[in-house]
Amino acid sequence: MKTFQCPYCGVGCGLYIDEKGRIKGDFEHPANFGDICKKPIYLTKVLSKDRIGRPLYRESKSKSLREISWEEAYGILKKKLTSLSPEETYFYLSGQLLTEDIYVANKFVKGFLKTNNIDANSRLCMASAVTAYKLAFGSDGVPCTYEDIDDADAFLFIGSNAAIAHPVLFKRVLKRRRESEGVGLVTIDPVETETAKKSDFFIQIRAGTDTVFLNSVFYVLHREGWIDYRFVENYTEGFEEALETARKFPPELAASVCDVKPEDIHLVAEVFAKSEKLISFWCQGLNQSVNGTMKNLALINLHLAKGRLNEKGCPFSLTGQPNAMGGREVGYLTNGLLGYRDVRNKEDREFMEDFWGVKGIKETPGPTITEAIDLILEERIKLLWVVCTNPAVSLPELRKVEEALSRVFLVVQDAYWNDTCEFANLILPASQVGEKEGVMTDSDRTITFCEKFSEPYGESKPDWLIFTELAKAMEASELFPYSSPKEIFEEFKESTKGRLCDVSDLSYEKLPARWGRRWLYEDLRFPTESGRARFHPAKFDIATEEGEFILLTGRLKNNWHTMTKTGKSPELLKGEVPPFVLMNPKDAEELGVEEGEEIVLSAKGKEITRIVRLGNVKRGHIFAPFGYPREFGEPTNFLVSDKTDPLSKEPDLKYAGVRVRVA
Ligand code: SF4
Repeated sequence: MKTFQCPYCGVGCGLYIDEKGRIKGDFEHPANFGDICKKPIYLTKVLSKDRIGRPLYRESKSKSLREISWEEAYGILKKKLTSLSPEETYFYLSGQLLTEDIYVANKFVKGFLKTNNIDANSRLCMASAVTAYKLAFGSDGVPCTYEDIDDADAFLFIGSNAAIAHPVLFKRVLKRRRESEGVGLVTIDPVETETAKKSDFFIQIRAGTDTVFLNSVFYVLHREGWIDYRFVENYTEGFEEALETARKFPPELAASVCDVKPEDIHLVAEVFAKSEKLISFWCQGLNQSVNGTMKNLALINLHLAKGRLNEKGCPFSLTGQPNAMGGREVGYLTNGLLGYRDVRNKEDREFMEDFWGVKGIKETPGPTITEAIDLILEERIKLLWVVCTNPAVSLPELRKVEEALSRVFLVVQDAYWNDTCEFANLILPASQVGEKEGVMTDSDRTITFCEKFSEPYGESKPDWLIFTELAKAMEASELFPYSSPKEIFEEFKESTKGRLCDVSDLSYEKLPARWGRRWLYEDLRFPTESGRARFHPAKFDIATEEGEFILLTGRLKNNWHTMTKTGKSPELLKGEVPPFVLMNPKDAEELGVEEGEEIVLSAKGKEITRIVRLGNVKRGHIFAPFGYPREFGEPTNFLVSDKTDPLSKEPDLKYAGVRVRVA
């Protein structure tokens, strides 16, 4: 029996493949105890569909791709990488890679090439949560664990449709409610999602205004005398400044900004004040915003104001991808280094130089992926290497992205043929989970070893091996002496000794296991300068987008990301195609359109067509899934701007102004 972590969402369910090749939930795994959702059931059926079996190359984009050998591919890359300056290259990774893959890629870029021009698709997903966690607690890392669900009595879902995006976790929450008296769920969202429908209270907020709502909850906590001053005085700093900002949002004013009732704000304040243990779950609804970091901080402020940590609760950010946490531990964003270290910190750089035996790690974070697209258009970045992600569908402002992909020398390293491959100069076939070994870290810091249960497709190779072999071709084998993922994990482990995310005592044989204590800040000492958690004034800034409707984007139920894998399963596609847009029945009536008819959405100089589905979306808002690849028509993200949060640089994928007409 081979066990592994589900390669889809960040819940990180443990799976196994039985003797008949069926995928089942692993009863021993702490993330799911045997539970499973529909997505991974069809995994083995799609393992070999539309795969890339050999490296492909073309001298120019006008030519057709032709098969080449790995040796030729490495030769082309060596020539390119040595003829360009490091700052003219850019690497874009993924939270779907194994930690060992990410480790070697990050070392190749930051330690060997000596550039910080590397980012990951976590930038589109978790960057605001990472930034807020670091500001509030001094470090990244979820403060509690899934076990905390089992004795909590209140759950807040804000900007999260966990019922479909993190289904096994959501079922655990429902189980808790079913089995215990007095457990309640509140959902705050502009759409009455599957999560909202299962909640005891649904607050239908205007998109983009969460910071106002949460500041107002803070206001009410203070007005009603519900602040936990003992906690605030003993373990935090910055309370007064944060409260000063919150006081600008009395419930009557906030209610009109957020288009909710003042009682809704009071209700959430009461839940914060009176529940025994409250877990707030959030996801992209808070993160993907020009105000994303502030939305996160406004929520964390509430937890600090009521001392809702550890046995009393937790602010719990849900990761979208299976190994986004592992990527963060390895430091795969533009500023990161191993073990939650940072290129801006001299001590961290010196440690890494000593650890890797290199000199000259750059101290300035590189550009983020949306900034890199601009730099490609300015011809300052000339080579883009995309690993295990599909930016031709998932990035915002796709017209610009298409132009950049058409101009740059593009390397795509992936298991499957995806939309981005259409623009590639060089395609490197990669093995995927099941065909290689290594670890992933889920949303609650549990690390799972993924066993290999299938031979790599064609000539595909594990991502770590591709970078290792290229390093050898570039005469850097002493830095990359790896012949197995285990050697890489052992090296990674050593770098984490004494850090918050210390995994030095773990081994493949001891997994699954969680790093850190169950409650990361159990002793209420925080890795900040003062040792205290920090309140932050949560300032409000709404996206300014012109249009008749606010377009919200998000997930489908049974498909995952840009459908590169799940979209190959007819069972998972059923009911999710053709691409649709969800609309309020009254808005549809005013527009003169009925369920099943087509409408045209236009913005950013682009028009896309979708069929209408009716649902309880807030008036003036529409919701469209972002993940449809081009085979189903124009991707949704053509309509979304690349404006980003000033601190996290995460794009606002949840607030686009669009015009709408009947097709
Ligand atoms: Fe996989 Fe997420 Fe479903 Fe678990 S809940 S089986 S991790 S997609």
